[in-house]
Formats: sequence, C-alpha cells, structure tokens
Amino acid sequence: MNKPIVLNAAELPDWAHGELNALFDMLDLPHDPAAASAFLKEHGAKVRGIALRKTKIDAALLDALPSLEIISSYSAGLDNVDVDAVKARGVRIENTSHILADDVANAAIGLALAVTRDFVNADAFVRAGKWPEQKQYALGRSISGMRVGIVGLGTIGSAIARRLRAFGSTLAYFGPSRKAVDMPYFDDVAELARHSDMLILTCPLTPATHHLVNASVLDALGPDGFVVNIARGPVVDETALIAALAANKIAGAALDVFENEPEVPQALIDDRRAVLTPHLGSGTHETRRRMAENVVDTLAAHFGVPGPRDHSQDHLGNKAVKAA
Ligand code: NAP
Repeated sequence: MNKPIVLNAAELPDWAHGELNALFDMLDLPHDPAAASAFLKEHGAKVRGIALRKTKIDAALLDALPSLEIISSYSAGLDNVDVDAVKARGVRIENTSHILADDVANAAIGLALAVTRDFVNADAFVRAGKWPEQKQYALGRSISGMRVGIVGLGTIGSAIARRLRAFGSTLAYFGPSRKAVDMPYFDDVAELARHSDMLILTCPLTPATHHLVNASVLDALGPDGFVVNIARGPVVDETALIAALAANKIAGAALDVFENEPEVPQALIDDRRAVLTPHLGSGTHETRRRMAENVVDTLAAHFGVPGPRDHSQDHLGNKAVKAA
C-alpha cells in the first residue's frame, strides 16, 4: 500500500526525520522560495500532511496543496500560519502547546524571579568579588503578594497562574474573552496594567496583539512595574519599552523573545534592569524530545499508521487549534 505523502517543513532532530521517513513518503520543501514554488507545482497536489516548524503557511501555499489534510506543528506559536485560511480549507492543525506549557511556565517564573530579585546582577556581583566591600546587596521585590496580570490565559498562561498561586501572588488576566476561572478579568490591557505590579505576556502573536504592550500600557503599569515576555517579541513595542526603562517609567523587564530576534537592541543589553534570554522557553531536552515525538505521532495517528510509540493506553493530548 502507498504511504501517505507528507511535506517536510520542519527542522527536527535526525531521529525524528528517520521516524517520519519510515512512516511516510517524505518530500523536503526547498528553502529557496523560487525552488519551493516549482517544487510545489510538481508535487503539491499529492501532499496530504505537513510536518511544520517555522515555514510560513499562507493561502498561496495552501492553494498549491489541494489534498492537504493535516499540519503537525513542532511549535505552540502559529504566527507563521494563516490559521483562518487553514481552517477555511478544513485542514486540521495541531501544535505542541500542551507539551511545552510546563517548561515555558517554569521559564516565565524563572524570569519573574530573576527580574524582581536581580539574580543576574547579583551573580555578577559575587563573581566580581564585590561582596566583601559592600556587605548588603540591594533589596529586591517579592512576587509573593505581588499583583500579577496575565495577558492571554491559555495553556501557558494557566500553567503560570498555577505556579504563581503557590507563590502567593494575586492574579488577574486579560484576553479576548472571560474564562470560567476564579480570577478577575480585564477586557482592557491598560486597565490590567494599572491594576498590576507585573505583566506576564502569554498571548499568541496576531494582528490584534502586535504592539499590544505599548507606551500607554507601560505608563499604566508604572515605575514599580515589571514586564515578563515569554510570548513573541512583537507583542511588545520594543522601542517604547526601551524608552520606558530609560525614563524609569517601569522597574524592569525580563524578555525571552524580541522583535527582531536573534538581534537584541544594544539599549536592552546595556540596561541592567533587563533580563534577557535567547527564546529558550521550551528548551529542555525532555520537552524538545516530546515536541518532536508529537509531530511524528500526530501524523501517524491521523493517517492510521502504526507509529513508533504506543498510544493505545493514552491520548496524544492535542487540543484543536482555534482560528485566529
Ligand atoms: P493558547 O493555549 O492558544 O493560549 C493563548 C491565549 O491567548 C488564549 O487564552 C487566548 O484567548 C489568548 N489570546 C488570544 N488573542 C488574544 C489577544 N488579542 N489578547 C490577549 N490574549 C489573547 O497558546 P499557548 O500554548 O498558551 O501559547 C501562547 C503563546 O506563547 C504562543 O502563541 C507562542 O507565541 C508563545 N510561546 C512562546 C514560547 C517560548 O519559548 N518563549 C514557547 C511556546 C509558546 P482565548 O482562549 O479567549 O482565545
């Protein structure tokens, strides 16, 4: 029997490519746009699945794939995908939000602690041998009792909320709709900022969230306020953030993502109230392995192909991705 034809648009570990190659007829999408276009003209009509990482999926690409049934994404963020166009064509799309949420939430908590307790500079202080001269290091702020506003209470935002409850923070959230949770809801992000000592950003990047955190939201957060961005860089207006830090209009920022990553503005690098990490939210051996496994297993389950792992006793746990 012919194997389903799947387009490889994901840079996965070699072992995962090996598994995909064993299960499907894999076609590698060329990186060069002209070559990709010619390739799709020749092969696109046969493609039934996509293993995806960062490749842009837009209406034009979908037009070239009339038999497409499923997109299995390695990422949680689908800002590279026109989700509405995918849904309109009846194509199933699955991501790894449910797999990476715990580690991304752990990273967010680490960033929140690092920026409020000044751990990065404190480490440099000890290494530089300054402790004996200056006996008392500058005091930090406590996230226990702190009012934390979560922007986008989805899979990751909820995982962060569970952790912050254990820390004793006071929580509230903003998003497009009120959820059935015991937490105050704000329908205006500036109002949430006014009510918060820290904003943690966990919404997707969409046209509606591009520069959602702008100068007026930062003004509302105020000079004692912190921003933690674990979502996507362009959710924050980086120029406004740099200006707010320079004018002491906010207290600090912890950023895992940047507007033009991997480029990071020198003003942030030079600012000791900024904690900067290189988009490492999901970056643990355990989670990255499970993310790659999920790309393979989701395609195998969809096409009814016996996969490399036995899921008869469990469920892949994928949840349907909503249109943006
Ligand atoms: P999710 O489960 O889909 O949750 C997203 C949440 O954002 C939902 O509650 C959604 O509200 C809300 N939202 C949608 N539009 C919004 C808007 N305009 N303003 C405010 N909130 C809005 O997604 P997730 O798995 O938690 O992931 C969230 C994002 O984190 C991803 O899209 C990705 O960009 C980022 N991420 C970053 C890393 C990293 O390494 N730093 C790793 C993974 C993911 P509704 O439910 O009402 O639609």
